[in-house]
Amino acid sequence: MNHQPAYQVLLYYQFVPIENPEAFAEEHLQFCRELGLKGRILVAPEGINGTVSGTVEQTEVYMAHLKQDPRFANMAFKVDPHDGHAFKKMHVRPKEELVTFRVEGELDPNNRTGQRLNPRQFYEAMQQEDVLIVDGRNDYEYDLGHFRGAIRPDVHSFREFPEWIREHLSPYKDRTILTYCTGGIRCEKLTAFMLEEGFQHVAQLDGGIVTYGKDPEVRGRLFDGKCFVFDERLSVPVNQEEEVVVGTCIHCGKSAETPHNCADPSCHHLHLCCPDCREKQDGYCSDSCRENHGRTSHAS
Ligand SMILES: [Zn+2]
Ligand SMILES: [Zn+2]
Repeated sequence: MNHQPAYQVLLYYQFVPIENPEAFAEEHLQFCRELGLKGRILVAPEGINGTVSGTVEQTEVYMAHLKQDPRFANMAFKVDPHDGHAFKKMHVRPKEELVTFRVEGELDPNNRTGQRLNPRQFYEAMQQEDVLIVDGRNDYEYDLGHFRGAIRPDVHSFREFPEWIREHLSPYKDRTILTYCTGGIRCEKLTAFMLEEGFQHVAQLDGGIVTYGKDPEVRGRLFDGKCFVFDERLSVPVNQEEEVVVGTCIHCGKSAETPHNCADPSCHHLHLCCPDCREKQDGYCSDSCRENHGRTSHAS
């Protein structure tokens, strides 16, 4: 008999005007705390983006509550079963933008974004000739797992995308571009930006990798490795048909699927590391981090 309550992790976003995000955030934090949820929610004038964990009961109450608000009535929740909380604390933060992507002029994803493809359509589109599959996430997320044949963006944070796109994708403005990210929100900005830049055919995976991995028909096919997630789980499986490991240890090159932050707080570089090297390297991502930090921490 299992007496532990079942838990769920929710991932969701909605682009919708929110007046006074500060007041909204304060009230929402109170509500989440009373419910017993943990997680991270961002509130901005352009909408809401959150990921929270709680018992099935708590999370169901939360979703029902949000859906009563006309602004969030159509919000899509990605729901993942889990064996406990996936966060330590509950944060609700007012922000200027949901995903930091500062470019000249306004980008309103409510206005114009790439064509939305459901998992089945995305799966089929990926197999068309002449398409470019572009990963809309950071390089370290790509390194843990990605769609087969996808282009790895050389970016450490989302705000670097506009420059990267201008520099590397400009010759392909006539090609069909397929973008994807974890839950879909980053593609909303990415495809809006690409259309502004003059790309002709831009489509995005609706609901992101996590939705794709749960689709009963597609079953995560053509995704290799695991999907990085921004909570204590660190990664979730996607492909239910075949298991391919693409992550490699930064030190020895052997297969590795566990992301770690560098032990040097001034570096903090998120990297994949095998258990052997983790011990041998004391958690540092490089010899120079070990030397720098080792020296300063011993000198004190
Ligand atoms: Zn290793
Ligand atoms: Zn480091």
